[in-house]
Amino acid sequence: MPYDAPNLHPDLLQCLASDSYLLQLTLDTLPVPIFYKDKAGVYLGCNKAFESFIKLTRDELIGKSVYELFDEELAEVYQRADQALFDNPGVQIYEKQIKTREGDSVFVRFHKTSFNDNRGEVAGLIGVIFDITELKALEAQLTHHAIYDDLTQFYNRREGIAIGERLYHACSQQLGELGVILIDVDYFKLINDTYGHMVGDDALRHIAATLKQQQDPEDVLMRWGGEEFVVLVNRPFGTDQDFETYLEARAQVYCDAIRENRFQIGDDALQITFSCGLSSFEPGKSLTQMLHDADAALYRAKDAGRDNVSW
Ligand code: GH3
Ligand code: MG
Ligand code: MG
Repeated sequence: MPYDAPNLHPDLLQCLASDSYLLQLTLDTLPVPIFYKDKAGVYLGCNKAFESFIKLTRDELIGKSVYELFDEELAEVYQRADQALFDNPGVQIYEKQIKTREGDSVFVRFHKTSFNDNRGEVAGLIGVIFDITELKALEAQLTHHAIYDDLTQFYNRREGIAIGERLYHACSQQLGELGVILIDVDYFKLINDTYGHMVGDDALRHIAATLKQQQDPEDVLMRWGGEEFVVLVNRPFGTDQDFETYLEARAQVYCDAIRENRFQIGDDALQITFSCGLSSFEPGKSLTQMLHDADAALYRAKDAGRDNVSW
């Protein structure tokens, strides 16, 4: 049925404030919290979903401003956002972590839109609230998985390389010094073959914990893959000690630690050893080339009998 809305309600502000049964019924049917306010920031109404969201009834809400309903900090945030929308009319979307009256923390996304009166002046706003708490938790989980290795909780290779590129950039501007230690566990397959894959996983966790104990605040640890780890050794520029000597010493610290920290399986105390390939920054040598050089050096360490460090 065609109808001429402006003839029915020339002013949306008037319409929203008119306590219309049909409007209320329609809004109450919608399952998302909806509220509307005038330009002074005074609530004109809301739906049932909003009542249960903020744990206040419509009667308690209508005619009040945010300052009368929420704590000062939250009221300020809402007021500032409302003012920004009135100053720049249209649609406004933002996310906010808020505490419910029960003290639970929830993430919400506000979708708000301003509306005009019959003279075309901004007269108020209508807002819808989406609870995105679960979405945010999932997002945090996905972000974590994208950055960290599941088994060791070290950076994964992709994240480690991204960090390495930043350190490399600083190094090429003489803001730091950078080296790579590529660690490969010696005879790791034997642990899997003797005790099974699950114990192998425990051994990798033990190795990661041992590396972590020796980590210098400037070192970046990552799981390179399988039973291989990379340590990016980073040092402020201008230190007296030769960087190659420092890098080799850092590798020895990690090797000594794993050799001494035996892995206990039942009555067996397994001694684990590392072979390490080293490479350090040189002008014109990319990070990829540094990693490639460390890999070649690792082969030399293995060929030389394992449990050692090679360039
Ligand atoms: P070496 O390096 O001294 O030459 O001998 P290795 O036995 O360590 O070398 P190899 O590369 O042959 O074996 C690596 C083994 O690591 C094979 C693979 O099954 C095992 N491995 C890789 N990733 C995992 C993992 O996540 N869990 C377990 N349990 N084993 C893994
Ligand atoms: Mg290997
Ligand atoms: Mg190995």
